[in-house]
Amino acid sequence: MNAPTDLAHLLPNVEQREVPEAFLAALQARFGQQCSTALAVREQHGRDESAFVSVPPPAAVVFAQSTRDVADAVALCAQHKVPVIPFGVGSSLEGHLLAVQGGISIDVSRMSQVLSINAEDLTVTVQPGVTRKAVNEAVKSEGLFFPIDPGADASIGGMTATRASGTNAVRYGTMRENVLALEVVNARGEVIRTGTRAKKSSAGYDLTRLMVGSEGTLGVITEVTLKLYPLPEAISAAVCSFPTIEAAVRTVIQVIQLGVPIARCELIDANTVRMVNAHSKLGLREEHMLLMEFHGSPASVKEQAETVQEIASEFGGNAFEWAVTPEERTRLWTARHNAYFAAIQTKPGCRAVSTDTCVPISRLADCLLDSVAEADASGLPYFLVGHVGDGNFHFGYLIDPDNAEERRVAEELNVKLVTRALKLEGTCTGEHGVGLHKMGFLLDEAGAGAVDMMRTLKRALDPDNILNPGKIFDTPAALRATP
Ligand SMILES: Cc1cc2nc3c(=O)[nH]c(=O)nc-3n(C[C@H](O)[C@H](O)[C@H](O)COP(=O)(O)OP(=O)(O)OC[C@H]3O[C@@H](n4cnc5c(N)ncnc54)[C@H](O)[C@@H]3O)c2cc1C
Repeated sequence: MNAPTDLAHLLPNVEQREVPEAFLAALQARFGQQCSTALAVREQHGRDESAFVSVPPPAAVVFAQSTRDVADAVALCAQHKVPVIPFGVGSSLEGHLLAVQGGISIDVSRMSQVLSINAEDLTVTVQPGVTRKAVNEAVKSEGLFFPIDPGADASIGGMTATRASGTNAVRYGTMRENVLALEVVNARGEVIRTGTRAKKSSAGYDLTRLMVGSEGTLGVITEVTLKLYPLPEAISAAVCSFPTIEAAVRTVIQVIQLGVPIARCELIDANTVRMVNAHSKLGLREEHMLLMEFHGSPASVKEQAETVQEIASEFGGNAFEWAVTPEERTRLWTARHNAYFAAIQTKPGCRAVSTDTCVPISRLADCLLDSVAEADASGLPYFLVGHVGDGNFHFGYLIDPDNAEERRVAEELNVKLVTRALKLEGTCTGEHGVGLHKMGFLLDEAGAGAVDMMRTLKRALDPDNILNPGKIFDTPAALRATP
């Protein structure tokens, strides 16, 4: 495999498109102070949390405050055939936001209103810039919560666009299961609606599901209706240490196969526990560990915990340590969510090349254990965390972004891991999406016919290819899984 040393290797022959002066003048006339061409603002919108070396930033950033603003900005882009990249909070990990063909960014973070809470129906409708934590703040007085929790406090628009999930997906599903309806600005700048607040529908093509995971390539999401859940009557969280990663993984496989309705089931390897302890000032045992949470009635939580404890002890798991109070639980899960930042801080100036494979639960040990051995043998520092109840885990190989050899080694590990996951009937990306980084892997996973169908849909809905062009399948891809 020829691993890339910088973004140019991922994007051969891609040219920036022209952004005409007349277009920028029209944009500034319409948006005034809401449109910025300051370099620092453009640079901040031209990158994400990935390890990619930047391409030139977008030519301007529009800070939309309403659906009308989004529609007018996209209509101007359509008129001048200028690329437009929607921006939530910029926490994506696969190069999603890079302006590889130039154009402008539409930042929707100021569209941050919770529009309506329908407690009786367990739904909430929000603007796309509302973050997942803000949704939970808004609904908690109703005794409700929204479970999807990527580590970053991402925007609901961005989470919808990447089909995100997080630690609770093992019980509550991903954005795919939890988005009921959308308002979207299409490539012509027109406003359309998909879905309703009804729990189910057979009305025509499922455009909601088409938009969920479309990574800004089919439209700009301007409103999202989400499912909510009653706050569980009882919640308890526990950590359990294991002598080996294999013991932890075998425990998880059995818990899932037995149908225990566990709400969270996360793996952290010993090295990452050390990083988390140092960063979050915790005193977790520095061994391979499962972090778990149980939701339900007091009796069912007790029963679930007892079952899991029994299984864990069969595999040599140490006694559970419980996080009983809400404060202790929050501290534990915040530390888990900050594992990425804890790891980044151990190597000044580094970036993480993140992996995101997900396999059927019965194949989890086969996929994970060989990949751990390869990562150890490589000599690269890394962190390892996983939503293992879903068969999904992440290595973050910590590289100096200017060090070509480190990048090559990290990408080679990633290729081997994806190759293994695909052979085990899994996916190259469980939750982060394709962006730029996984375009070749998508081809390996879905096949040329399926990718061609995606491209046909894209062409039909965005004939001038202005919506986040160059992503998912649009560019010759350098990184491929090996047959
Ligand atoms: C520390 C850390 C932990 C993470 N953990 C997880 C995790 O556990 N699970 C997980 O799924 N992800 C995780 N992520 C990745 C990231 O948080 C998610 O991909 C998130 O959904 C991105 O949301 P955002 O608001 O940052 O979107 P952005 O990064 O701003 O955008 C992401 C993509 O969505 C598009 N987009 C954004 N807003 C809109 C809109 N309104 N309409 C149309 N398209 C839009 C963009 O064009 C881009 O293609 C993590 C990231 C970090 C840094």
